Amino acid sequence: MEERRTILMERYEIGRHLGQGNFAKVYYARNLTSGQGVAIKMIDKDKVSRVGLMVQIKREISIMRLVRHPNVLKLFEVMASKSKIYFVLEYAKGGELFNKITKGKLSEDVARRYFHQLIGAVDYCHSRGVYHRDLKPENLLLDESENLKVSDFDLSALAESRRQDGLLHTTCGTPAYVAPEVLSRRGYDGAKADIWSCGVILFVLVAGYLPFHDTNLIEMYRKISRAEYRCPRPFSVELKDLLYKMLDPDPSTRASVSRIKRSSWYRKPIEVNALKIKHETRDKVYKGEATTSGLTECSNSEGNQASSSLTNLNAFDIISLSTGFDLSNLFEEKYCRREERFTTRQPAETIFAKLNELAKRLKLKIKKKENGVLKLAAPKEGMKGFLELDAEVFELAPSLLLVELKKTNGDTIEYRQLMKDEIRPALNDVVWAWQGDSHPQPEQSMQGEQQQQSPLPSQKPQD
Ligand code: AMP
Repeated sequence: MEERRTILMERYEIGRHLGQGNFAKVYYARNLTSGQGVAIKMIDKDKVSRVGLMVQIKREISIMRLVRHPNVLKLFEVMASKSKIYFVLEYAKGGELFNKITKGKLSEDVARRYFHQLIGAVDYCHSRGVYHRDLKPENLLLDESENLKVSDFDLSALAESRRQDGLLHTTCGTPAYVAPEVLSRRGYDGAKADIWSCGVILFVLVAGYLPFHDTNLIEMYRKISRAEYRCPRPFSVELKDLLYKMLDPDPSTRASVSRIKRSSWYRKPIEVNALKIKHETRDKVYKGEATTSGLTECSNSEGNQASSSLTNLNAFDIISLSTGFDLSNLFEEKYCRREERFTTRQPAETIFAKLNELAKRLKLKIKKKENGVLKLAAPKEGMKGFLELDAEVFELAPSLLLVELKKTNGDTIEYRQLMKDEIRPALNDVVWAWQGDSHPQPEQSMQGEQQQQSPLPSQKPQD
């Protein structure tokens, strides 16, 4: 019997089901042109019915484009139809890292190799002002060469903003990997919170069970807040010492990435045979199975259907919560775009000073600056009235801003010409990366890595 093929957007042939998240299904797919295997995360907007948060989503997608590291899962492109949104992701053939531990704990040498990759990814993202804040087993995938791929990096900031909005009523399923200061909902440093989670992950890899585990959730919180755990006897002294520094309940004295890298356990050479995973007998719990009433389980284990309660939302989930959010018009051709965006690591004052200077040079009128928006207008009437631009700055992360230059009046071709000939070249020294095009990325250089272009949104939906 002839098999029916499912083709998505005339570009991908959909294959087997890989997994299920809170609001999304993940499928294997093959790019029909290149033959490349990818994973497609499909979000069904009808399944969920909440609104809002569009701006955060677009910012998050912009961030996702910035993160290009061999150990961070790549987002190739975003596609959309009226009812669904599709994220085309790098395919992690090896599945979840923690499936390995179900077969038995890892030797310290094998764990070290994964840990190096995890710390490499974390360090890279932190250097770009991007924090995970929710590192846990489901987010650690492996490719076919057993290389670690951290997924959903940079998405939890979004979940956090929902919490601050009061829209998120429960904390994510298991607190097992979460730093004490995050659980206590004090303000926290994203970098230090990630280090804590990396410490828990390292413990689990080598022990085969969680450091903080109790069937009573309150008791588990108490153990976490006091960092009450015991290392199994076979742990080396060097490993115990590193864990002690990482699982420090005080974030101000907790090890930094550079201190981790200087530790003697980390610096031990990685043996070639560590590439082959050796399994010892499995001990006990390795995932957040301690979840009890009061919290919602967020595990992606088989058969776990999309939870109806709002739990651990990430960008994918939140997109699906926005009923009015249709990404289809984000994929317009470049020539009809009426806005440009770039990220910068300069402070907002520098950006506005630069724009003021530019306006003077181009004889643009500075109309007003209201609610953080600078309005610029051409002195002479053009083909379709006076060309006008709004410049707006958004904070993506403490050291990363997104600047949007949007045409609000006048002719698009005139605007694009002005952008190309005058504005872009003048801003190059403050730009970290222009979003969504193939222009050279001025300030950003990544050794040995190709700048990957994906047809991601650089265009807001027309309002
Ligand atoms: P998520 O919604 O991202 O938590 O994904 C649900 C599950 O789908 C994960 O736990 C993985 O088992 C699987 N999965 C997600 N993304 C990928 C990928 N890029 N490659 C392979 N499997 C994936």
